[in-house]
Amino acid sequence: MTDIIHLLPDSVANQIAAGEVIQRPASCLKELVENSLDAGASHIRVIVRDAGRTLLQVIDDGKGMSPTDARMAFERHATSKITQASDLFQLRTMGFRGEALASICAVAHVELQTRREGDEVGTRIEIAGSKVMNQDIVQCPVGTNIRVKNLFYNVPARRKFLKTEQTELRNLLAEYHRIVLVYPHIQFTFVNNDEILSELAPSTLKQRIEAIFGHSSKPYTSHLVDLATQTELVTISGFIGKPETVGKNSQQYMFVNGRYMKHSYFHKAIMTAYSGLLLPEHSPSYFLYFDIDPDAIDVNIHPTKTEIKFADEQAIFQILLAATKEALGKFNVSPSLDFGISTRLDMPAASVGAVPIAAPTLQVNPAYNPFKSHTPSNRDNWEPLYGNVSNVESKLSNSATSLFDYPQISETTPLIQCNNNYILVPIEQGLMLVHQHRAHVAVLYKELNDQLITQLAITQPLLFPEVIELVEQDLETLQTMLPDLEKLGFQLEQFSPRSYTIYSVPALLGQKNVVETLLQVIHGVQDTEQSVQTRWKEAMTLSLAQQMAIPQGKSLSDAEMHDLLTRFMATTSRYLPNGQTIITILTNEDLQKRF
Ligand code: ADP
Ligand code: MG
Repeated sequence: MTDIIHLLPDSVANQIAAGEVIQRPASCLKELVENSLDAGASHIRVIVRDAGRTLLQVIDDGKGMSPTDARMAFERHATSKITQASDLFQLRTMGFRGEALASICAVAHVELQTRREGDEVGTRIEIAGSKVMNQDIVQCPVGTNIRVKNLFYNVPARRKFLKTEQTELRNLLAEYHRIVLVYPHIQFTFVNNDEILSELAPSTLKQRIEAIFGHSSKPYTSHLVDLATQTELVTISGFIGKPETVGKNSQQYMFVNGRYMKHSYFHKAIMTAYSGLLLPEHSPSYFLYFDIDPDAIDVNIHPTKTEIKFADEQAIFQILLAATKEALGKFNVSPSLDFGISTRLDMPAASVGAVPIAAPTLQVNPAYNPFKSHTPSNRDNWEPLYGNVSNVESKLSNSATSLFDYPQISETTPLIQCNNNYILVPIEQGLMLVHQHRAHVAVLYKELNDQLITQLAITQPLLFPEVIELVEQDLETLQTMLPDLEKLGFQLEQFSPRSYTIYSVPALLGQKNVVETLLQVIHGVQDTEQSVQTRWKEAMTLSLAQQMAIPQGKSLSDAEMHDLLTRFMATTSRYLPNGQTIITILTNEDLQKRF
């Protein structure tokens, strides 16, 4: 018997690896442009034909390669970027695996021209299916010019797998955007079938965003507000969308150390900060740049994956949440007075125990620009960027009042109730109209949700326990909700197969008819889409809040109105989770126009 194990020839091994690294033209574009960035290019041109199927060419004015390096570059695990394992944890370059060019040349015809500054002539190499067909000397500009032709010519399955030209072009542009949004100071050009689809001059980040997403008739960046926060752990900067301009088509980008990433947990932090400010189904745009010690993240995973692991996700979640809230607050996009202490003391006893998660202390440098001198290999340059942190901090606390330009409502602000339904509030920006019932629902909704977490609801025993009879369907819903209802202060015990005795209710419920209220909550939950697990909890607390809230048509005293408004402002909501509007503001401009 002979041995049957043997090593695969390089060309086959490379083709297998290519399957992982190069899945479609867009991944090829990413690898080539990242190489140009690593080479320090200041102008990068991407030229494609048939959405990359026939041609994908990248021309840069970077540092180029020597003749030997040009040849070496196509070997697997050939890289100039790391030399030892520990380098992996201090990555500041985009590439490091030395796999991309080897993979590309395994599945395409590749032609490379490159010249270093100071070399009189350049090198030209032609490769097909991992085999060098030709190497000679050429006259060419400094930099690298690489043409990838007939992608997947020798992998019919892959080629068949490609989507329509339109889809592949969209993928190419999406990949292009994920890169150009990190390097606004670098010039980029994108050409498809001889048509220039994108021409981006060196600019600031804001201008770059405008150049990509704006139209001459519709400025894009005026809808964005700045976000900046700097902590020992992470620096986050960028822009987020103003809630009132948010729609269903939003641009959402997160980057860490210059790499595009998807991070559903951090996305949730942002969405949490917006909660109550957006209509359901709407979602904000954001462009956020995380800068963190490379030690604290793990990018050494699959080359085409955009998920990145962070060592300290929960802390970053809190930092991001606080920074987003602050950015929203700074620009007066929420009508909130403040998030805290003083209003909390006014809250009824039941909510005193509701501990809000403390926001971390933030040190903000508003002037910080991550792109100013983003020299990847030079960490020492980074220190001066942050400026004098303590100085920045004191500036922040001094200017806190002017930064947080919320409508001010004091005890002496005159309030008028209209139709026993709306509260009219004169504010600096104009006239605010508050829907009294919905404002109270928002307050209670938040309180109830807090109580689900803290389990510190105050319970009120019933003098005469009541019995609730249920039909089959309602019984099921009640049983699902039971543990959570208990957290909210209900105490029920099964009385017969189809009935429960109610012994205690939340103190917040007051004198409401208990059986009626519970039935309403059950039906409220049933009416809501039940696919998402958290949805029914929201439906339950919302429905309960609606039952507990002061009704429409109730006359309120001055003190009651003030109390309601102060508590409502602390919720920072503008809409109820079901999309109902709580407040509307007639701005001074609106008012002027009427006369
Ligand atoms: P990696 O980027 O992971 O090092 P690649 O296969 O993408 O691996 O590239 C291999 C090597 O070829 C790089 O390390 C670099 O030295 C060289 N190289 C590739 N593209 C360029 C370019 N556009 N300009 C200069 N050098 C390049
Ligand atoms: Mg590379």
